[in-house]
Amino acid sequence: TVLNEMSSLIEKGIEDFKGIVDIVMGTLVKIVDYNVAVIVVLEEHDIECVFKINNSVSEQYLNDVQEHTKNYLKENNICLPSSNKMTVFGIDKTEQTSVTNEQKIAYFDVPIRFVDKLGGLIILARSASERIDSKEEDFFKIVVKQAFIIMENSWLYNKVKKLAITDSLTGIYNHGFLYECLCKEYARAERYKLPLSFLMLDIDYFKKVNDTYGHPQGDAVLCKISHILRNNIRVCDTLGRYGGEEFSIILPESKLEDSVNLAERIRKEVEQYNFGDVNKVIKCTISIGISSYPDPDVRNLEEDLINKADKALYNAKAEGRNRVCIL
Ligand code: GH3
Ligand code: MG
Ligand code: MG
Repeated sequence: TVLNEMSSLIEKGIEDFKGIVDIVMGTLVKIVDYNVAVIVVLEEHDIECVFKINNSVSEQYLNDVQEHTKNYLKENNICLPSSNKMTVFGIDKTEQTSVTNEQKIAYFDVPIRFVDKLGGLIILARSASERIDSKEEDFFKIVVKQAFIIMENSWLYNKVKKLAITDSLTGIYNHGFLYECLCKEYARAERYKLPLSFLMLDIDYFKKVNDTYGHPQGDAVLCKISHILRNNIRVCDTLGRYGGEEFSIILPESKLEDSVNLAERIRKEVEQYNFGDVNKVIKCTISIGISSYPDPDVRNLEEDLINKADKALYNAKAEGRNRVCIL
C-alpha cells in the first residue's frame, strides 16, 4: 500500500518538489520510522540537500545528522553545499519534547545508483534502540529507493523547466520566455485597461569591448549589466536577454513617465560603473528605447510594442548613444 500511495503521487503532478518530499517521506515513515531524513540529489555539478524532520529533534541532533551526511559525501568526494543552500523543514525542531542525542542516533544509509559514482543518497536518522534485522533492511532499501526516484523526478523536472527558460550566460530569462511573458502581459493590459511598458536596452559599442579586452571580459560585462538591471526592477517586472548584447524589461502597470525614470536611473548606473578594476578601468554605456500601452500606435499586437521600442532604440543610437528615447 505504501508503494501504491507513492505511485498515486505521480498522477498528482511533480512540480512542487518540497511538497513531493513531504508526502513521500510522510508515507515512508509508516514502514520505517525515522526522526530526520536526509535526501541528497546529485546531478553533474548540482546538488540538492533536504533535511526532513519527522519527530522534533534538538539542534545538536540535527547538527550531528548534518555532520554524518557531510562525512558520507566526503568519502565519495562530494562537498555538501553551504548551510544556507540546505533546506530544513518538517516539525519545528525547537519543541520542548525534542529527541536529543543522549539517545544514540542510528543511521540507515541508502546510496542510490552506486555504480562508479554516487547518484543520490537517503539517510534516515533513527533511535538506536529500534533495531532493523537484515531481512527488513533489504525490503526497506527497495522502498527507500522507490521514494528517491519519485523525489528525484520532481527535482529534475523543475531543473529542466528552469533551464528551458533561462539564458545560460547571465542567468536571466531567455528570449522565448520573455516573448511569452510579453504576450500574457499585453493581453492582461488590454483586457483590464492597465498601463504596460516595454524597454529595449542595447550596449553601446560592445564590439569594441570584445575587440579590446577579449570575449571573456565581454561576457563578464554582460553578466554585470544583467545584475544591475535585476537590482533595479520590481518583483513583478520581467527581465530577459533579448539576444546578443540586447536586453528587455517588461514593466506591467507602469506608465510611460515612470518607465522613463527607471530607464534613466539604469542608464546612469551603468555609465558610472567600472567593469574592470582599479588598474584597468573599463567603461560601458547603454542606449534604451521605450514603448508603452496605451498608445494609438500600439494596436492589438504585442509586436507593435516591440517595434516601437526598437525604433526608439534606433533613434537613441542615431542621436549619439548613452541615452533614453521614446518616439
Ligand atoms: P552599437 O553601439 O551600435 O550597439 O554597437 P555594437 O558594437 O554594440 O553593436 P554590434 O551589433 O555591431 O555588435 C554587437 C556585438 O556584441 C558583436 C558581438 O560579438 C557581441 N556579442 C553578442 N553576444 C555576445 C556574447 O554572448 N558575448 C560576448 N562577449 N559578446 C557578444
Ligand atoms: Mg545590438
Ligand atoms: Mg550594441
